[in-house]
Amino acid sequence: MRELASGVWFGSGTHVTFLALVDGADVTLIDAGWAGDADRVEAALASIGRRPQDVRAILVTHAHIDHVGGAAKLHERYGTPVLAHPKELAHARGEAHEQAGPLDLLPIAWRPRTLRWMADVARVGVLGHVAMPYAQPFPDAAPGAPLDVPGAPVPVLCAGHTSGHTAFLLPGGVVATGDALVTGHPLSGSTGPQLLPAFFSHDPARTATTLDAIAGADADQLAPGHGEPWRGSPADAVALARAAG
Ligand SMILES: [Zn+2]
Repeated sequence: MRELASGVWFGSGTHVTFLALVDGADVTLIDAGWAGDADRVEAALASIGRRPQDVRAILVTHAHIDHVGGAAKLHERYGTPVLAHPKELAHARGEAHEQAGPLDLLPIAWRPRTLRWMADVARVGVLGHVAMPYAQPFPDAAPGAPLDVPGAPVPVLCAGHTSGHTAFLLPGGVVATGDALVTGHPLSGSTGPQLLPAFFSHDPARTATTLDAIAGADADQLAPGHGEPWRGSPADAVALARAAG
């Protein structure tokens, strides 16, 4: 894993990222990759001297299977609590459906980069379904206040990609942007701050306006749900993503 700021570790699953917030012996995970990435998440924790049993909570940016499949596996294995924004709970619990399906991919299914991505993610759960009836809402905190979990992340609601998509402001000036703002994806031909293809999003029209929540974050580094970390101001990243269309 890569340490972006003190105690803020960035890890990669299969074309998706996750974060470990280390606070003494305790850890909070933000997202945990595909179901088939669970062993990679455990190996990543081992690489920084932590065990899955040290994870006090898994926060989810949103409940798409590439971010929560691994969370469901870790819950099965260790009983780790899974926490989501109250507006994301129905999706996380499997009561609402906000996931792109195979038909959404049909128009671009012939492209080599789509075929390569499908071949990779077929191995880790793209055809699976994840429902987490045990998912709980974030612990109560005043707006703008940190959650009472290791690493003290501050949730920032930025709905659009999903109904309760949440970014997190982390210690050391890092903002975890989830899929609201990414810096690359196998289906994209470019790198740098950008939006995901619209068909991945539940409310594509809202994905552009919701970026205001990220632009206002007091941070100097972005940790996106897909792509590499990016150094610079969130406002600049948002401007680049909007310009990229
Ligand atoms: Zn994603």
